[in-house]
Amino acid sequence: MAAASACDKYFVNPNGVLTLPTSTVADALMTNAPIAPSLASLAVTEAPDLDAQTVFVMRGDSLPDTLPQAARLFVESAGWPAPGEGMLLPEASGRAGGWLYRADATAGAMGFGTLGRTLPAGSWVADGALSVEEATAALLGAYEFSRYRAARMKPRRLCVGPVAGEALRIASACGMARDMVNTPANDMTPQTLEDEARALALHHGAAFRVIAGDELLDHNFPMIHAVGRAGAIAPRLIDFTWGRSDARKVTLVGKGVCFDTGGLDIKPSSGMLLMKKDMGGAAHVLALARMMMEAKRDVRLRVLIPAVENSIAGNAFRPGDILKSRKGDTVEIGNTDAEGRLILADALALACEEKPDLLIDMATLTGAARVALGPDVIPFYTDDEPFAAALAAASGAVQDPVWRMPLWKPYAAKLASKIADTNNVTTDGFAGSVTAALFLQRFVQPGIAWAHFDIFAWSPAAKPSCPVGAEAQVIRALDRMFAGNA
Ligand SMILES: [Zn+2]
Repeated sequence: MAAASACDKYFVNPNGVLTLPTSTVADALMTNAPIAPSLASLAVTEAPDLDAQTVFVMRGDSLPDTLPQAARLFVESAGWPAPGEGMLLPEASGRAGGWLYRADATAGAMGFGTLGRTLPAGSWVADGALSVEEATAALLGAYEFSRYRAARMKPRRLCVGPVAGEALRIASACGMARDMVNTPANDMTPQTLEDEARALALHHGAAFRVIAGDELLDHNFPMIHAVGRAGAIAPRLIDFTWGRSDARKVTLVGKGVCFDTGGLDIKPSSGMLLMKKDMGGAAHVLALARMMMEAKRDVRLRVLIPAVENSIAGNAFRPGDILKSRKGDTVEIGNTDAEGRLILADALALACEEKPDLLIDMATLTGAARVALGPDVIPFYTDDEPFAAALAAASGAVQDPVWRMPLWKPYAAKLASKIADTNNVTTDGFAGSVTAALFLQRFVQPGIAWAHFDIFAWSPAAKPSCPVGAEAQVIRALDRMFAGNA
């Protein structure tokens, strides 16, 4: 349909390499505006507004030295605000004369998540510059998903000093990931994922292509096709490339299951309720790519997103089916609800064909990861020791928690099939996150530095820096690692 000529302008990267579009998406769809991150209730600035009032920040268990004597006497008699909260300070005239904010010291910099949303409406200036992490937390904590109803938080402005731009770069990308994950499946389809990815890629001059529907078979992505073919909206592989062609090759792969019914091995209602978030890996790699492109990191970045719905229809793939993968290995389907690893396998195999220097995948892959570490600490798997060390340092520096888990090779035997090269699941419930990682590893060429993140993309309880709902995990740590100052 839309002829190549209509698409040409979208497919030329800054290095002048023309990537022929394989997509059949109409131009009309390309005009869809990307979702604006829901951070509008707090604007952070480098310089204070003329009418800004002062926020006095308590980081520990003492009042700030900057606090005027009259305010100090008032606070001592009225009582300190609780950790994570604040209070108005009076002037001698009786009018409001500033705000005293008490950070929750037990939450570290992320405790500053309550700063923005507890401030009264208006314009404010912190009594000293905030750190990047503190300012980022303030923005993340002021997040409110307002796509389907008017925002309830009142807008306010806060001068945080010279870190404003850096905090906004990080928080905006996290807000984008949250928005995408919070958006329900009726408004976040494989087509929407494609539109979001295209808008981001074209904004940064990346070369963008999509392989959709039966073209997946022509281009040898049989497992992406098999998993997604029962969806009303065609499955697809989203692929964009950015940066200097001879720079270090970093490839990000994100699981984009826009809704996971479980397939014919259908989930119970309790297990299906949150499955709009099964495209969290895709949202995360887009957000990380956004951070890296905005910071102009000197890498050759590639993003691969297999985008599907795992739906039920007469043409759905079945338990017992044997699929041939892009790599060539045959995969017996022990359970159609272990679909994420199938689509990732074909994308990882493609990624390895150009031998990237670093290959990272992110996926809401297993419930076992939550059983092991809960919603907040993200397990990751790698055999690359320098990567693990650099990530650990970055993770601690920005309070984005990860925990390394073992690629315990003997467990790979649990994935054995009697009639195919491998099964997609094991028969017992043990070490489900580990065996999922081992399944993926089969499709990664030996010798390629690879890391897999089994993310949750959700915060089931409110935290200072995140309301209940979608959460962006790991990507602040990875961004710090790529910045090289962990
Ligand atoms: Zn599933």
